[in-house]
Amino acid sequence: MTDQPEAVESEAAAARGAPRRSAAIAVDLDQCKACGICIELCPKDVFDRDEKGYPLVARPEDCTICRFCEQHCPDFAIEVAELPGERGADHEAEGGA
Ligand code: SF4
Ligand code: SF4
Repeated sequence: MTDQPEAVESEAAAARGAPRRSAAIAVDLDQCKACGICIELCPKDVFDRDEKGYPLVARPEDCTICRFCEQHCPDFAIEVAELPGERGADHEAEGGA
């Protein structure tokens, strides 16, 4: 997935020990048509597909906030927000010094 520079950068930051950002991913099922684009495009496999084809936010902790899903949803049914605060502080402590 080398064509997704933001995701790569986020992972690179994580690899350097930088705090990772937490994401809130909201899918508006009233707008969603279950096309599956977001599920297919997500480089981190954040979504599962339910029995009707709708995306389920199964692994939000893996989201890098690349916003591919949000930008490519034809129905504007996804909103990705960065939560305040940081995660990975425990890893930072382990890898610090
Ligand atoms: S890309 Fe948008 S419309 Fe398609 S499944 Fe995902 S949320 Fe639903
Ligand atoms: S912003 Fe969307 S496409 Fe990017 S990692 Fe998060 S859930 Fe996946």
